[in-house]
Amino acid sequence: MVKPNPRFLPWLKEELAEVVEEEIRAKSVTIHTGCRMTRIDNSGGHLQVVCEDLTLDADMVLVATGVLPNSEIAAAAGIELGPNNSIAVDNRLMTSDPHVYAAGDCADAVHVVTGQKTWIPLALRANRAGWAVADNVCGRDIALSGVVGTAVFKVFDLQVARTGLNRKEAAAAGFETAEVAIKTRSRAHAHPGASTIHVSMVGDTNTGRLLGTQMVGHEGVAHRINAPAVALHAQMTVEQFSQTDLSYAPPFGPTWDPCLTAANQLLKKL
Ligand SMILES: Cc1cc2nc3c(=O)[nH]c(=O)nc-3n(C[C@H](O)[C@H](O)[C@H](O)COP(=O)(O)OP(=O)(O)OC[C@H]3O[C@@H](n4cnc5c(N)ncnc54)[C@H](O)[C@@H]3O)c2cc1C
Repeated sequence: MVKPNPRFLPWLKEELAEVVEEEIRAKSVTIHTGCRMTRIDNSGGHLQVVCEDLTLDADMVLVATGVLPNSEIAAAAGIELGPNNSIAVDNRLMTSDPHVYAAGDCADAVHVVTGQKTWIPLALRANRAGWAVADNVCGRDIALSGVVGTAVFKVFDLQVARTGLNRKEAAAAGFETAEVAIKTRSRAHAHPGASTIHVSMVGDTNTGRLLGTQMVGHEGVAHRINAPAVALHAQMTVEQFSQTDLSYAPPFGPTWDPCLTAANQLLKKL
């Protein structure tokens, strides 16, 4: 039987995931996807990662299998749980027990794009929720609007960013979607040192709403994702976002910001 070979970074648009994969391979790192690890052997300091069809020798093994919400104490106390068994909270961080509040990676949040509860454990939300709990228990009424899942990370010299929904997540949330993936430059044409920026953008064909954006590039990605993130919070349409007055000067980007070029291309499909 031929085993499916899962895509590297399956949540990232294929063209963008290939750029990340290439960056990693260029640094002589081998990627094996679809290998189920069964055990790690250690005989006399000699490590072996044993998979079903593959055994790899190792000097050191770093296991990064994701995180889960630490909600056992809340569950044992009969407090309602949300997605992925995170602790369900309202917009003031109150749990189903009005005497108990929850904040941080253990708690859920509303996804501003879908309007549904979600569990996206990231630092800003955790920190903001902690402050909001302190305010609320001390009598200052603070309600949080939710998250859009804005995240950035660096792979060697490459910046990878996302905000909102990818196409699969948008379809699962009931949206009819259109998507584009564009390539543009990190600096103006005549400016030396430019590199490629890849942008993928998803919109709702029924309402024209912007649903999500992903971006990969060697410069100008990590903070550029904040423009579509704010647009998602404002529930902008792709057309409204395409009209925004974003900055331009040759060292920082093309005249049309990469986000605007993606929005203009996406508009043609909506
Ligand atoms: C390697 C790594 C890199 C990350 N990078 C980013 C990033 O770049 N951007 C980003 O947004 N997020 C990032 N995150 C996620 C971010 O760190 C978390 O979202 C954030 O720390 C969550 O804060 P928290 O207070 O909920 O939990 P934590 O920071 O995990 O704090 C929980 C604390 O509670 C303690 N604790 C647990 N159980 C008990 C108990 N029973 N009694 C007493 N104390 C207990 C723990 O020891 C810990 O000190 C990263 C996470 C990791 C692991």
